[in-house]
Amino acid sequence: MDKENKFDYCNSLTRYSRWETREVKIGNLPLGGENTIRVQSMTTTDTMDTKATVEQSIRMIKAGCEYVRITAPSINEAQNLKEIKDELRKRGYTTPLIADIHFTPNAAELAARIVEKVRINPGNYVDKKKFQTLEYTDAEYVEEIERIRNRFTPLVKICKEYGTAMRIGTNHGSLSDRIMSRYGDTPFGMVESALEFVRICEELNYHEIVLSMKSSNPQVMVQAYRLLIHKMKESGMNYPLHLGVTEAGEGEDGRIKSSVGIGTLLEDGIGDTIRVSLTEDPEFEIPVAKTLVDRYNHGRIHKEIRNINFEAIKFDPYIYNKRESIQVTTLGGKNVPRVIIDKSAKGVTYSDLKELGYTYIFELDKWNISDCAADFIYLGDKEISFEIPGTLRLIRCDDRWEEQEDKTKSFPMFNKYDYMDDECEKSDIMNFLMVKPTDLVQKILNKIKQDPTVVLIIDTANNHGMAEQRSMFLKLEELHIHCPVVIQRTYENLDEQSFQIYASTDAGALLLDGFGDGVLFTNISITQESNKSSKTEHTKPDFGNTILEQRKADKMVIKPNLNIHDLLVNNTAFGILQATRNRISKTEYISCPSCGRTLFDLQETTERIRRRTDHLKGLKIGIMGCIVNGPGEMADADYGYVGVGKGKVTLYKGKEVVQRSIDSDLAVDALIDLIKENGDWVERDN
Ligand code: SF4
Repeated sequence: MDKENKFDYCNSLTRYSRWETREVKIGNLPLGGENTIRVQSMTTTDTMDTKATVEQSIRMIKAGCEYVRITAPSINEAQNLKEIKDELRKRGYTTPLIADIHFTPNAAELAARIVEKVRINPGNYVDKKKFQTLEYTDAEYVEEIERIRNRFTPLVKICKEYGTAMRIGTNHGSLSDRIMSRYGDTPFGMVESALEFVRICEELNYHEIVLSMKSSNPQVMVQAYRLLIHKMKESGMNYPLHLGVTEAGEGEDGRIKSSVGIGTLLEDGIGDTIRVSLTEDPEFEIPVAKTLVDRYNHGRIHKEIRNINFEAIKFDPYIYNKRESIQVTTLGGKNVPRVIIDKSAKGVTYSDLKELGYTYIFELDKWNISDCAADFIYLGDKEISFEIPGTLRLIRCDDRWEEQEDKTKSFPMFNKYDYMDDECEKSDIMNFLMVKPTDLVQKILNKIKQDPTVVLIIDTANNHGMAEQRSMFLKLEELHIHCPVVIQRTYENLDEQSFQIYASTDAGALLLDGFGDGVLFTNISITQESNKSSKTEHTKPDFGNTILEQRKADKMVIKPNLNIHDLLVNNTAFGILQATRNRISKTEYISCPSCGRTLFDLQETTERIRRRTDHLKGLKIGIMGCIVNGPGEMADADYGYVGVGKGKVTLYKGKEVVQRSIDSDLAVDALIDLIKENGDWVERDN
């Protein structure tokens, strides 16, 4: 790919606009084109249980779900979709239904006559995956494609006849042996897997197609979607895209991981419908999905962002490479990205430290430091009256820092004026400079380039902030400036969920591409200044923070946002670093969202496994509801716990089966034993 062409996976890296896809008709609710980004989810009930499936579908629809997907593992379930659809229509719900198919073309062919859309997985629609490494000659490969054509053509013809749409949904974990043999387990393989099927559809003049490239690893998922668009553009295609991170898990981690993957693409105008897949009841997925898409569904007007000189940069959007930076103490270089917590508004107390991962044990007279303990606290001009833990460092505004006797545990933060002023005392070790990308004029850049102690903290006031910050990273690369850079975002008036989703999107999109040596999130509440209150409300929490300076200039009253607690900010920061695979600080659970195929209570089982294993930092445990898709979907898990029958579980080490059909009452203990036998167990720190 030539340099500029390489970035041809969206309309622009500096101007927000949606990549325009063709409109696909799905019942009464079209997708793609100029339609809003739709949200969807999938039922978890047994498809043969019409009442339960209808009732769950209604709960989802009431929560805002625009398409309801229902699994059809065999012809019986496919047939029962008619009962479900009739009952929903009878009760006045016209929401389009989607049948989810794996392995069973005859179920797909029946479902396509009943519902508005079918989803097939090209990795297993015709092929049974055997996890074998096979060699294919060119002739054998062509023969295989011919076999697919014969098996797939009837479905395409039925879809054409009945006006049914189709999603060709590749999953990273279930690529066919044929694709694996030629492309490996890569985004290239994922894309080709879908395009083989798309080409057959096009030959049959069928275009009501939606595509997806899901993975439980947001990095792989983002690269695959980018590559798919690039390849589609080369071939003159523009099919709408369904975005999702598979097996994202539950709770906070699932929300963060989904937002990192889906949000990164939405930021570049990619995506026509999304599903946030959580190991929770499906109606809980919808508010998360809506918070994600609402940021883009009303357009995004933003200030102009500096153009990128594509010729001068090495950044590759299809391969993860961490931006090269010099090391300044514990920031930059080969260090993991650091977490800085903003306490400049209220200062820090002894008890605050617990929320930031530091617990003082009186009996032992020492600090217990968790794997998710913040690295720095930004204090602004606030004082601190107690001895901080040895690994924690403080950042203070430069005039306060100057007054300190002991300058080894704290470092100064400068605004652009004080940084450029040689009269202002600087640290010999590390100096933070807080600026917006637009502040980085040539004179400042020249000084930064020569300064081995500077760490940039970059905030943005641009409505398309991620793109502005990315363009700044690319500018630094062009100028060969390698100072560490901390991504800062200041959020105004957000609730907890919006903060978590926005931060995961904004910082996650940069970290996924290797940009950023740290994160710092500031949450404020702003209101219009009234004449009476203006004087009393202003404090000075904002030293050096450029967004706060701007809001003050706009005559806004600024207060800390009390909705957002330090614990949430700290957990979100570590969650983003884990989801982008930049800093592993906890166990990763790759748990499926469950569906009509699920053979055990996924939420309860995940919780039982989590209680026993959540101290095994870095270990990836797959928890899958069925053997049909589970082993493939958990792709890169170290250990797998997979339902194989009522009350029966099979355990995996990587992709290999190690114990078959264990009684589910004994399976969690057996999983722990397996982890121990393989030397991956450590005792919990008390
Ligand atoms: S792995 Fe889970 S969500 Fe996927 S098909 Fe099996 S039970 Fe359903």
